[in-house]
Amino acid sequence: MKVTEHLANADRPFISFEIIPPMRGGDAKGLLALIDDLVKYRPPFIDITSHAAEVIYEETPQGIQRRVKRKRPGTLGVCALIQNKYHVDAVPHILCRGFTREETEDFLIELRYLGIDNVLAVRGDDSGYEKPLQYGRSANHYACDLVRQVSCMNRGKYLEESLLDAQPTDFCIGVGGYPEKHFEAPNLRIDARRVKEKVEAGAHYVVTQMFFNNDHYFHFLDVCREEGITVPIIPGLKILTSLKQLNSLPKTFFVEIPDEFAEEVMAAKPEHVVDIGVEWALKQSQELLDRGAPSLHYYVMQSAAAIKKLMAKLKV
Ligand SMILES: Cc1cc2nc3c(=O)[nH]c(=O)nc-3n(C[C@H](O)[C@H](O)[C@H](O)COP(=O)(O)OP(=O)(O)OC[C@H]3O[C@@H](n4cnc5c(N)ncnc54)[C@H](O)[C@@H]3O)c2cc1C
Repeated sequence: MKVTEHLANADRPFISFEIIPPMRGGDAKGLLALIDDLVKYRPPFIDITSHAAEVIYEETPQGIQRRVKRKRPGTLGVCALIQNKYHVDAVPHILCRGFTREETEDFLIELRYLGIDNVLAVRGDDSGYEKPLQYGRSANHYACDLVRQVSCMNRGKYLEESLLDAQPTDFCIGVGGYPEKHFEAPNLRIDARRVKEKVEAGAHYVVTQMFFNNDHYFHFLDVCREEGITVPIIPGLKILTSLKQLNSLPKTFFVEIPDEFAEEVMAAKPEHVVDIGVEWALKQSQELLDRGAPSLHYYVMQSAAAIKKLMAKLKV
Protein backbone atom coordinates (compact mmCIF):
# COMPACT_ATOMS: atom_id res chain seq x y z
CA MET A 1 0.00 0.00 0.00
CA LYS A 2 1.13 3.55 -0.64
CA VAL A 3 2.36 5.83 2.16
CA THR A 4 -0.30 8.36 1.15
CA GLU A 5 -2.98 5.67 1.47
CA HIS A 6 -1.71 4.76 4.94
CA LEU A 7 -1.95 8.44 5.88
CA ALA A 8 -5.42 8.85 4.40
CA ASN A 9 -6.77 5.65 6.01
CA ALA A 10 -5.32 6.19 9.49
CA ASP A 11 -7.80 7.25 12.16
CA ARG A 12 -4.90 8.45 14.33
CA PRO A 13 -1.23 9.29 13.75
CA PHE A 14 1.13 6.36 13.32
CA ILE A 15 4.81 5.68 13.73
CA SER A 16 7.21 4.70 10.95
CA PHE A 17 10.90 3.86 11.03
CA GLU A 18 14.02 4.22 8.93
CA ILE A 19 16.78 1.62 8.95
CA ILE A 20 20.12 1.24 7.22
CA PRO A 21 21.38 -1.92 5.45
CA PRO A 22 24.33 -3.67 7.17
CA MET A 23 27.92 -3.01 6.09
CA ARG A 24 29.19 -5.17 3.21
CA GLY A 25 29.80 -8.65 4.58
CA GLY A 26 27.53 -7.93 7.54
CA ASP A 27 25.30 -10.52 9.14
CA ALA A 28 21.57 -10.56 8.49
CA LYS A 29 20.95 -11.79 12.08
CA GLY A 30 21.23 -8.33 13.63
CA LEU A 31 19.05 -6.89 10.91
CA LEU A 32 16.34 -9.50 11.49
CA ALA A 33 16.44 -8.89 15.25
CA LEU A 34 16.06 -5.14 14.61
CA ILE A 35 13.08 -5.59 12.29
CA ASP A 36 11.53 -8.11 14.74
CA ASP A 37 11.68 -5.39 17.40
CA LEU A 38 10.29 -2.64 15.15
CA VAL A 39 7.32 -4.52 13.70
CA LYS A 40 5.93 -4.93 17.24
CA TYR A 41 4.94 -1.25 17.03
CA ARG A 42 2.92 -1.96 13.86
CA PRO A 43 4.58 0.57 11.55
CA PRO A 44 2.63 0.80 8.28
CA PHE A 45 5.94 1.27 6.49
CA ILE A 46 9.70 1.07 7.07
CA ASP A 47 12.22 3.08 5.04
CA ILE A 48 15.51 1.54 3.97
CA THR A 49 18.33 3.92 3.14
CA SER A 50 20.43 3.65 0.00
CA HIS A 51 24.18 4.12 -0.23
CA ALA A 52 26.25 5.07 -3.25
CA ALA A 53 29.85 4.06 -3.82
CA GLU A 54 32.42 6.35 -2.20
CA VAL A 55 36.09 7.07 -2.57
CA ILE A 56 38.27 5.64 0.20
CA TYR A 57 41.98 6.31 0.62
CA GLU A 58 43.81 3.34 2.16
CA GLU A 59 47.34 3.08 3.43
CA THR A 60 48.90 0.00 1.84
CA PRO A 61 52.51 -1.31 1.61
CA GLN A 62 52.53 0.24 -1.87
CA GLY A 63 51.54 3.65 -0.50
CA ILE A 64 48.20 5.45 -0.27
CA GLN A 65 45.70 3.86 -2.63
CA ARG A 66 42.43 5.34 -3.89
CA ARG A 67 39.62 2.81 -3.93
CA VAL A 68 35.97 3.12 -4.87
CA LYS A 69 33.80 1.11 -2.50
CA ARG A 70 30.11 0.66 -1.92
CA LYS A 71 30.08 -0.02 1.80
CA ARG A 72 26.39 -0.71 2.29
CA PRO A 73 24.73 -2.58 -0.56
CA GLY A 74 21.53 -4.53 0.07
CA THR A 75 18.70 -1.96 -0.03
CA LEU A 76 16.71 -4.09 -2.46
CA GLY A 77 17.17 -7.31 -0.45
CA VAL A 78 16.17 -5.65 2.82
CA CYS A 79 13.07 -4.24 1.12
CA ALA A 80 12.09 -7.67 -0.18
CA LEU A 81 12.54 -9.09 3.33
CA ILE A 82 10.41 -6.44 5.01
CA GLN A 83 7.71 -6.61 2.41
CA ASN A 84 7.45 -10.39 2.07
CA LYS A 85 8.54 -11.83 5.44
CA TYR A 86 7.01 -9.15 7.66
CA HIS A 87 4.20 -7.92 5.39
CA VAL A 88 5.06 -4.31 6.14
CA ASP A 89 5.39 -1.82 3.29
CA ALA A 90 9.02 -1.15 2.45
CA VAL A 91 10.11 2.29 1.27
CA PRO A 92 13.47 2.03 -0.47
CA HIS A 93 15.43 5.24 -0.91
CA ILE A 94 16.63 5.96 -4.41
CA LEU A 95 19.49 8.32 -5.19
CA CYS A 96 20.71 10.57 -7.98
CA ARG A 97 24.38 10.42 -7.04
CA GLY A 98 26.20 7.18 -7.74
CA PHE A 99 23.52 5.78 -10.02
CA THR A 100 22.81 6.34 -13.69
CA ARG A 101 19.23 6.93 -14.78
CA GLU A 102 19.42 3.60 -16.57
CA GLU A 103 20.34 1.80 -13.32
CA THR A 104 17.54 3.62 -11.53
CA GLU A 105 15.05 2.45 -14.15
CA ASP A 106 16.23 -1.15 -13.71
CA PHE A 107 15.95 -0.80 -9.92
CA LEU A 108 12.39 0.53 -10.22
CA ILE A 109 11.48 -2.41 -12.44
CA GLU A 110 12.81 -4.80 -9.74
CA LEU A 111 10.76 -2.95 -7.11
CA ARG A 112 7.64 -3.25 -9.19
CA TYR A 113 8.02 -7.01 -9.55
CA LEU A 114 8.52 -7.26 -5.78
CA GLY A 115 5.21 -5.47 -5.23
CA ILE A 116 6.83 -2.42 -3.64
CA ASP A 117 4.59 0.64 -3.97
CA ASN A 118 6.76 3.43 -2.55
CA VAL A 119 10.12 5.11 -3.05
CA LEU A 120 11.79 8.04 -1.31
CA ALA A 121 13.78 10.02 -3.89
CA VAL A 122 16.82 11.93 -2.64
CA ARG A 123 19.90 13.36 -4.30
CA GLY A 124 22.59 11.85 -2.07
CA ASP A 125 25.70 13.65 -0.84
CA ASP A 126 29.08 14.11 -2.46
CA SER A 127 31.03 10.92 -1.69
CA GLY A 128 34.11 11.98 -3.62
CA TYR A 129 33.19 9.59 -6.42
CA GLU A 130 31.50 10.70 -9.58
CA LYS A 131 30.26 7.82 -11.64
CA PRO A 132 31.58 8.07 -15.23
CA LEU A 133 28.80 8.24 -17.79
CA GLN A 134 29.79 5.89 -20.59
CA TYR A 135 27.90 4.48 -23.57
CA GLY A 136 25.22 7.16 -23.62
CA ARG A 137 24.25 6.72 -19.96
CA SER A 138 22.66 9.70 -18.22
CA ALA A 139 22.35 11.02 -14.66
CA ASN A 140 19.84 12.82 -12.45
CA HIS A 141 21.36 15.91 -10.82
CA TYR A 142 18.77 17.05 -8.33
CA ALA A 143 16.10 15.07 -6.51
CA CYS A 144 13.44 16.80 -8.67
CA ASP A 145 15.05 15.18 -11.77
CA LEU A 146 14.80 11.79 -10.07
CA VAL A 147 11.16 12.43 -9.11
CA ARG A 148 10.50 13.37 -12.74
CA GLN A 149 11.98 10.05 -13.90
CA VAL A 150 9.74 8.04 -11.55
CA SER A 151 6.70 10.15 -12.52
CA CYS A 152 7.43 9.49 -16.19
CA MET A 153 7.48 5.74 -15.51
CA ASN A 154 4.20 6.16 -13.63
CA ARG A 155 2.84 7.47 -16.94
CA GLY A 156 4.36 4.56 -18.89
CA LYS A 157 7.25 6.67 -20.21
CA TYR A 158 10.50 4.73 -19.82
CA LEU A 159 13.95 5.96 -20.93
CA GLU A 160 13.74 4.02 -24.19
CA GLU A 161 11.09 6.03 -25.93
CA SER A 162 10.43 3.43 -28.63
CA LEU A 163 9.52 0.77 -26.03
CA LEU A 164 6.27 -0.85 -27.15
CA ASP A 165 3.43 -1.50 -24.67
CA ALA A 166 5.44 -0.18 -21.71
CA GLN A 167 3.33 -0.67 -18.58
CA PRO A 168 2.99 2.35 -16.31
CA THR A 169 4.32 1.89 -12.79
CA ASP A 170 2.37 3.29 -9.84
CA PHE A 171 4.90 4.40 -7.26
CA CYS A 172 4.05 6.73 -4.41
CA ILE A 173 6.98 9.15 -4.23
CA GLY A 174 8.38 10.73 -1.07
CA VAL A 175 11.08 13.42 -0.93
CA GLY A 176 13.23 15.08 1.73
CA GLY A 177 12.66 18.47 3.36
CA TYR A 178 14.89 20.44 5.75
CA PRO A 179 13.31 22.38 8.64
CA GLU A 180 16.69 24.09 9.25
CA LYS A 181 17.23 24.41 5.46
CA HIS A 182 19.51 22.21 3.36
CA PHE A 183 23.13 23.19 3.96
CA GLU A 184 23.66 24.27 0.34
CA ALA A 185 20.52 26.41 0.12
CA PRO A 186 20.87 30.20 0.45
CA ASN A 187 17.87 30.38 2.80
CA LEU A 188 14.84 28.43 4.02
CA ARG A 189 12.33 30.02 1.63
CA ILE A 190 14.40 29.28 -1.48
CA ASP A 191 14.93 25.74 -0.17
CA ALA A 192 11.15 25.36 0.34
CA ARG A 193 10.64 26.45 -3.28
CA ARG A 194 12.94 23.57 -4.26
CA VAL A 195 10.69 21.25 -2.27
CA LYS A 196 7.76 22.69 -4.23
CA GLU A 197 9.57 21.86 -7.49
CA LYS A 198 9.81 18.25 -6.29
CA VAL A 199 6.08 18.19 -5.54
CA GLU A 200 5.29 19.72 -8.92
CA ALA A 201 7.49 17.04 -10.50
CA GLY A 202 5.25 14.39 -8.89
CA ALA A 203 6.24 13.89 -5.23
CA HIS A 204 3.32 12.84 -3.03
CA TYR A 205 4.70 13.54 0.44
CA VAL A 206 7.71 14.98 2.28
CA VAL A 207 9.73 13.51 5.17
CA THR A 208 11.88 15.98 7.05
CA GLN A 209 15.46 15.81 8.11
CA MET A 210 15.85 15.30 11.87
CA PHE A 211 15.46 18.34 14.13
CA PHE A 212 15.71 18.76 17.89
CA ASN A 213 13.67 21.93 18.23
CA ASN A 214 10.05 21.61 17.11
CA ASP A 215 9.89 25.34 16.32
CA HIS A 216 11.99 24.59 13.22
CA TYR A 217 9.42 22.05 12.02
CA PHE A 218 6.41 24.31 12.62
CA HIS A 219 8.14 27.25 10.92
CA PHE A 220 9.14 25.06 7.94
CA LEU A 221 5.55 23.83 7.71
CA ASP A 222 4.30 27.45 7.59
CA VAL A 223 6.83 28.42 4.91
CA CYS A 224 6.00 25.34 2.81
CA ARG A 225 2.24 26.01 3.07
CA GLU A 226 2.81 29.69 2.15
CA GLU A 227 4.72 28.49 -0.91
CA GLY A 228 1.70 26.38 -1.91
CA ILE A 229 2.93 22.92 -0.89
CA THR A 230 -0.15 20.97 0.16
CA VAL A 231 1.17 17.39 0.47
CA PRO A 232 1.75 15.78 3.91
CA ILE A 233 5.00 16.81 5.62
CA ILE A 234 6.03 14.03 8.01
CA PRO A 235 8.42 15.03 10.81
CA GLY A 236 11.61 12.95 10.99
CA LEU A 237 13.03 12.45 14.51
CA LYS A 238 16.23 11.00 15.91
CA ILE A 239 16.95 9.99 19.49
CA LEU A 240 20.33 11.31 20.60
CA THR A 241 22.09 8.43 22.38
CA SER A 242 25.66 9.53 23.14
CA LEU A 243 27.70 12.56 24.13
CA LYS A 244 29.65 12.21 20.87
CA GLN A 245 26.47 12.89 18.88
CA LEU A 246 26.31 16.43 20.29
CA ASN A 247 29.01 17.21 17.73
CA SER A 248 28.60 14.50 15.11
CA LEU A 249 24.89 15.14 14.38
CA PRO A 250 25.32 18.90 13.73
CA LYS A 251 28.45 18.18 11.67
CA THR A 252 26.79 15.51 9.51
CA PHE A 253 23.23 16.78 9.27
CA PHE A 254 23.56 20.56 9.77
CA VAL A 255 21.09 20.59 12.66
CA GLU A 256 21.16 22.56 15.88
CA ILE A 257 21.00 20.98 19.34
CA PRO A 258 19.10 23.33 21.68
CA ASP A 259 21.05 24.82 24.57
CA GLU A 260 18.99 23.27 27.38
CA PHE A 261 19.27 19.78 25.85
CA ALA A 262 23.02 20.07 25.14
CA GLU A 263 23.69 21.31 28.70
CA GLU A 264 21.77 18.37 30.18
CA VAL A 265 23.67 15.85 28.03
CA MET A 266 27.05 17.39 28.87
CA ALA A 267 26.33 17.29 32.60
CA ALA A 268 25.15 13.66 32.59
CA LYS A 269 27.03 10.44 33.27
CA PRO A 270 27.57 8.60 29.94
CA GLU A 271 25.18 5.79 30.94
CA HIS A 272 22.36 8.33 31.46
CA VAL A 273 22.62 10.04 28.06
CA VAL A 274 20.26 7.60 26.30
CA ASP A 275 17.51 8.30 28.85
CA ILE A 276 17.97 12.05 28.43
CA GLY A 277 17.79 11.61 24.64
CA VAL A 278 14.64 9.49 24.97
CA GLU A 279 12.96 12.07 27.24
CA TRP A 280 13.79 14.86 24.78
CA ALA A 281 12.46 12.87 21.80
CA LEU A 282 9.36 11.98 23.82
CA LYS A 283 8.67 15.65 24.56
CA GLN A 284 9.16 16.51 20.89
CA SER A 285 6.95 13.62 19.74
CA GLN A 286 4.12 14.41 22.12
CA GLU A 287 4.07 18.09 21.10
CA LEU A 288 4.16 17.22 17.39
CA LEU A 289 1.22 14.85 17.85
CA ASP A 290 -0.72 17.37 19.96
CA ARG A 291 -0.21 20.00 17.26
CA GLY A 292 -1.44 17.81 14.41
CA ALA A 293 1.57 16.06 12.84
CA PRO A 294 0.21 13.47 10.38
CA SER A 295 2.58 10.77 11.70
CA LEU A 296 6.08 10.46 13.19
CA HIS A 297 9.08 8.99 11.38
CA TYR A 298 12.03 7.83 13.52
CA TYR A 299 15.58 7.49 12.25
CA VAL A 300 16.39 4.21 14.00
CA MET A 301 19.24 3.13 11.73
CA GLN A 302 20.79 0.03 13.40
CA SER A 303 19.62 -0.32 16.99
CA ALA A 304 16.15 -0.51 18.51
CA ALA A 305 17.34 0.00 22.11
CA ALA A 306 16.43 3.71 22.37
CA ILE A 307 13.22 3.51 20.33
CA LYS A 308 11.96 0.70 22.60
CA LYS A 309 12.39 2.99 25.61
CA LEU A 310 10.56 5.77 23.80
CA MET A 311 7.71 3.58 22.58
CA ALA A 312 7.13 2.33 26.13
CA LYS A 313 6.23 5.92 27.09
CA LEU A 314 4.75 7.48 23.93
CA LYS A 315 0.99 7.90 23.80
CA VAL A 316 -0.02 7.81 20.15
C1 LIG B 1 14.21 11.90 4.62
C2 LIG B 1 15.63 11.83 4.09
C3 LIG B 1 16.16 10.61 3.70
C4 LIG B 1 17.47 10.53 3.18
N1 LIG B 1 17.96 9.30 2.79
C5 LIG B 1 19.19 9.22 2.27
C6 LIG B 1 19.71 7.96 1.78
O1 LIG B 1 19.05 6.93 1.86
N2 LIG B 1 20.96 7.95 1.25
C7 LIG B 1 21.73 9.08 1.14
O2 LIG B 1 22.84 9.00 0.62
N3 LIG B 1 21.27 10.28 1.58
C8 LIG B 1 20.03 10.38 2.13
N4 LIG B 1 19.55 11.59 2.58
C9 LIG B 1 20.44 12.76 2.54
C10 LIG B 1 20.32 13.55 1.20
O3 LIG B 1 20.76 12.75 0.14
C11 LIG B 1 21.18 14.80 1.32
O4 LIG B 1 20.67 15.66 2.32
C12 LIG B 1 21.40 15.57 0.04
O5 LIG B 1 22.44 16.54 0.26
C13 LIG B 1 20.21 16.34 -0.47
O6 LIG B 1 19.21 15.53 -0.92
P1 LIG B 1 17.80 16.11 -1.45
O7 LIG B 1 17.05 15.01 -2.03
O8 LIG B 1 17.18 16.94 -0.41
O9 LIG B 1 18.37 17.05 -2.64
P2 LIG B 1 17.70 18.15 -3.55
O10 LIG B 1 16.25 18.28 -3.33
O11 LIG B 1 18.18 17.87 -4.94
O12 LIG B 1 18.39 19.49 -3.00
C14 LIG B 1 19.79 19.56 -2.80
C15 LIG B 1 20.21 21.02 -2.74
O13 LIG B 1 20.11 21.59 -4.04
C16 LIG B 1 19.21 22.70 -4.04
N5 LIG B 1 18.49 22.61 -5.29
C17 LIG B 1 17.50 21.75 -5.63
N6 LIG B 1 17.13 21.93 -6.91
C18 LIG B 1 17.94 22.91 -7.40
C19 LIG B 1 18.06 23.55 -8.67
N7 LIG B 1 17.28 23.21 -9.69
N8 LIG B 1 19.00 24.51 -8.81
C20 LIG B 1 19.83 24.87 -7.77
N9 LIG B 1 19.73 24.32 -6.54
C21 LIG B 1 18.80 23.34 -6.37
C22 LIG B 1 18.34 22.54 -2.78
O14 LIG B 1 17.88 23.78 -2.29
C23 LIG B 1 19.33 21.90 -1.84
O15 LIG B 1 20.17 22.88 -1.26
C24 LIG B 1 18.27 11.70 3.09
C25 LIG B 1 17.73 12.93 3.50
C26 LIG B 1 16.43 13.01 3.99
C27 LIG B 1 15.87 14.35 4.42
